[in-house]
Amino acid sequence: MSGPAGLEIRRLRVAFDGFTAVDGVDLEVRPGDLRFLIGPNGAGKTTLVDAVTGLVKAHGSVRFDGTELLGRSVHRISRSGIGRTFQTATVFEELTVLQNLDIAAGAGRGAWTMLRRRRSTPEPVVRALETIGLGDLADSPAGTLAHGRKQWLEIGMLLVQDVRLLLLDEPVAGMSHDERLATGELLERISTERTVVVIEHDMDFMRSFARSVSVLHAGRMLSEGTVAEVQADPKVQEVYLGH
Ligand code: ADP
Repeated sequence: MSGPAGLEIRRLRVAFDGFTAVDGVDLEVRPGDLRFLIGPNGAGKTTLVDAVTGLVKAHGSVRFDGTELLGRSVHRISRSGIGRTFQTATVFEELTVLQNLDIAAGAGRGAWTMLRRRRSTPEPVVRALETIGLGDLADSPAGTLAHGRKQWLEIGMLLVQDVRLLLLDEPVAGMSHDERLATGELLERISTERTVVVIEHDMDFMRSFARSVSVLHAGRMLSEGTVAEVQADPKVQEVYLGH
């Protein structure tokens, strides 16, 4: 793996039938950052991530590791080292944890054939299992995992794919207190080697783990900085507290 990579977004604009969901956003994420992207419902967070991953048509510029991504297909963008999770984990329920990681590691390379032929577990899969803390459950069907652990498995499936920028959509939604804590610590570990951007509604989680924060509001960048800086920003207080 060639290490974490930075994201540089300039004047990003996404419109749906005349409605501008993302309206000229600049966003710079340094390699190895653990950035939280917050903002009220409808602020444009998901649309911004959709634009970065090629799911919606956008204008402006999105550079990843120095390369322009806008105009590239979803497939090419994911191959350039960007991976994403959605709010509902998408794992193969009937396969084991290990098989899920194995399939992800071989994505696009005849994974099923590899799985049947392979006798030993490849190194990236072993490392990912350790990082996500599911070593004891390697042979359990993914469908039997508790909600939080499914999310960790999905993150593990990105780790084995050489993803250098992870975009995570509300990774702790529906998790218990202990699972949130473990997820935060997992993200801290991951961000020593990769860049992580988290869309989040949970402010306590954000306060505990964000290294930097960007606040979107009505399609625009409202505020950026450390947790303390953003919390002290009157513009942010107005949006969140209405005063
Ligand atoms: P957030 O993730 O911050 O809650 P979204 O990015 O989902 O916000 O949505 C931003 C705005 O764009 C919302 O007003 C939403 O209704 C609108 N929007 C999102 N996707 C579409 C779409 N496919 N078609 C039309 N409007 C959309």
